[in-house]
Amino acid sequence: MSDDEPTVPVHCPECGSESQVPLSELADAVERHNENLHDGDDVARVDPAVRDRLTDMVVEDLGLL
Ligand SMILES: [Zn+2]
Repeated sequence: MSDDEPTVPVHCPECGSESQVPLSELADAVERHNENLHDGDDVARVDPAVRDRLTDMVVEDLGLL
């Protein structure tokens, strides 16, 4: 992983917050946020528009195609 790791905006409508999370910590950060603040409810999430781009990016990064 390079030093300038891309960050992803995670939006939580319940908290009204948006934070930039490094790609490698994305799943953990979202899970931790929901776990700690929302009793494990799936509230915080990546912007769907970003998620689409991200999926392409990650797939390319990991060489899954
Ligand atoms: Zn929240």
